[in-house]
Amino acid sequence: MAYPDLEQREGAVHLLPLGATEPHGPHAPLATDTIISVGICRRAADRLRGELDVLVLPAVPYGVTRYGAEFPGAVSISEETLRSLVTEIAASFERVVLVNSHLEPEQVWTLRALDLPLLDITRRANAQRLTDEFRAGAGHAGRYETSLVLADQPELVDQERMRTLQAKMIDMPAAIRSGQTSFLAMGMDQAYAGAPADATAEEGEQTFEALADMLVELIREVAAR
Ligand SMILES: [Zn+2]
Repeated sequence: MAYPDLEQREGAVHLLPLGATEPHGPHAPLATDTIISVGICRRAADRLRGELDVLVLPAVPYGVTRYGAEFPGAVSISEETLRSLVTEIAASFERVVLVNSHLEPEQVWTLRALDLPLLDITRRANAQRLTDEFRAGAGHAGRYETSLVLADQPELVDQERMRTLQAKMIDMPAAIRSGQTSFLAMGMDQAYAGAPADATAEEGEQTFEALADMLVELIREVAAR
């Protein structure tokens, strides 16, 4: 967009997609979480066209990312930097909704602590609407996330490698609660959990629909305030 397109749109709801630059298995892009957040925002904005004025901001492609530090490609920022970045961006707008797909606990806690509306798919009410693998806590670069990337940007998934990967049903939240602080310590020797070989674009599109439903509901709440 160019700036004249933004005149008279002060009341719009601005969606801020939040991701990470982080290893996602040997098959999926480092940008997986950012791609997912942007994909949810675009779908929700499309659905609300004609009903509400919704704008998608440029994504924040870095997050608090320490679990994957033993692999190439992880670029982390601190909690403090994330807090400042999001708070300062949000200060430019009357209405902002944060849309996060990077689920490392320190990322989620930092965002929850801000006084801003947040699509938090780790909340039970939201997680229940997602796939079995996601609810089992094996949602890193497995079937759940890989399907989403296949639905949105299939050329970024190495499907030959993807098909060779054995399922690793690791409950990441449980592993984190028991004190493990890296993918390797959790048994994720190739930076994924779950079953990426079972990923399909069809499942990804269905999951995007479920995620967009949640975001549409949140945007309507924010717009009604
Ligand atoms: Zn991810």
